[in-house]
Amino acid sequence: MHFEFTADQLELAKRVQAFAQEQVAPGAAARDQASQYEEKLLPAMAAEGLFGLRIGTEYGGTDRDAVTTGLVLEELAAGDVAVGYPVLNAALIGGVLHANANQTQKTSWLPPIAAGEAIVALCLTEPEHGTDAAHIQMTAEPDGDGWRLTGEKTSIMIGAYATHGLIFARTGDEGATGITAFYAALDDPRVTRTSMNDLGSRAARRSRLVFDGLPVGAGEVVGGPGLGFVQVMRGFDYSRALISLMALGAAGASLREAYERAGSRQAFGQPIGKFQGVSFPLAEQATLVHAARLLTYEALWRNDAGLRHRAEANMAKWWAPKVAMEAANQALITFGHEGYSEDAPLARRLRDIIGLQLADGTENATKLVVTRELLGRDSAP
Ligand SMILES: Cc1cc2nc3c(=O)[nH]c(=O)nc-3n(C[C@H](O)[C@H](O)[C@H](O)COP(=O)(O)OP(=O)(O)OC[C@H]3O[C@@H](n4cnc5c(N)ncnc54)[C@H](O)[C@@H]3O)c2cc1C
Repeated sequence: MHFEFTADQLELAKRVQAFAQEQVAPGAAARDQASQYEEKLLPAMAAEGLFGLRIGTEYGGTDRDAVTTGLVLEELAAGDVAVGYPVLNAALIGGVLHANANQTQKTSWLPPIAAGEAIVALCLTEPEHGTDAAHIQMTAEPDGDGWRLTGEKTSIMIGAYATHGLIFARTGDEGATGITAFYAALDDPRVTRTSMNDLGSRAARRSRLVFDGLPVGAGEVVGGPGLGFVQVMRGFDYSRALISLMALGAAGASLREAYERAGSRQAFGQPIGKFQGVSFPLAEQATLVHAARLLTYEALWRNDAGLRHRAEANMAKWWAPKVAMEAANQALITFGHEGYSEDAPLARRLRDIIGLQLADGTENATKLVVTRELLGRDSAP
């Protein structure tokens, strides 16, 4: 059993850590307050190659493995969770397109994603269908050789910035096999966007998107009619582990700051870390974060090794953000009153991690997948 990252993986992680600490973290509070990425941010991320991690070199990407992508998202989230989302989306959607699009589509779609010229959003959730995504209602009405998309998508992360969406709509009967995936440009007067007023990761501008008859051609269908749901669910196995690492990256940053504080803050004539009531809860949280991290990287490693990883990725998705919440909260408590202020990053990270508990599937939704994997569909809820 090997617990080491490769030299390549560590080299990239170090580079992204420097980028996150020097170019991302310093602007996090201002970005959060403005609910907006600064103009130079996405181009700077593109220059770092962060959007092409899961795209082949033949399409301008760097073809990194899932573990490396996890390391990148962990480091980025340690700088600012909100900045991780466009990279997460490019990895998830880039991966889905890589696996399911035809050659012509890949040649046209993947290079702009890798270059950061196309910013992509996953358009699945609807006002009446979140966990129950197999019953989405957005319609794709036949129109000549193509379709017209009508309906509302909601909770679409980076929806305000996205140039393109992987959009799921109903082309057939009720249920999963009636859903088709389309990859289409969103910059169209028939798509209206409204940003949501969020608790955390405000700069990522989660949005509602109303589609009023957006035309899509046969060349914009991904995979084939009726295959959309299965494709995205396969992609979720892997993106759920990435989300867990975003949560753990943020929690890890808060824990590191809490340890520094426990060593430097004096009370009753000694560093507060000398009190077991301060240092033992931190030891517990460091242990849990470490364990959740191992589980999550194992899920990604299994993905890279071509092994089944659905159970492990979904275990990581329900547990790691929960562990991260507790750890980030304990870190904040360690800081006393200063932790409660928005002048320190601890409160913001806590707000950000709550979003990660919900994104891509709630605790219950992911436990359902784990149960189906371990117990079998016939006996599971
Ligand atoms: C930060 C963030 C980012 C997101 N990004 C995106 C995105 O980019 N694209 C996108 O399409 N969506 C996105 N989402 C939406 C997300 O996927 C949904 O919020 C999630 O799937 C849950 O759906 P819902 O919010 O409609 O809750 P509901 O499905 O209404 O569930 C409400 C509650 O009931 C529970 N519940 C529901 N069904 C069951 C069941 N069968 N058994 C037990 N409990 C159940 C849930 O666990 C939850 O606690 C994002 C959400 C957040 C918060």
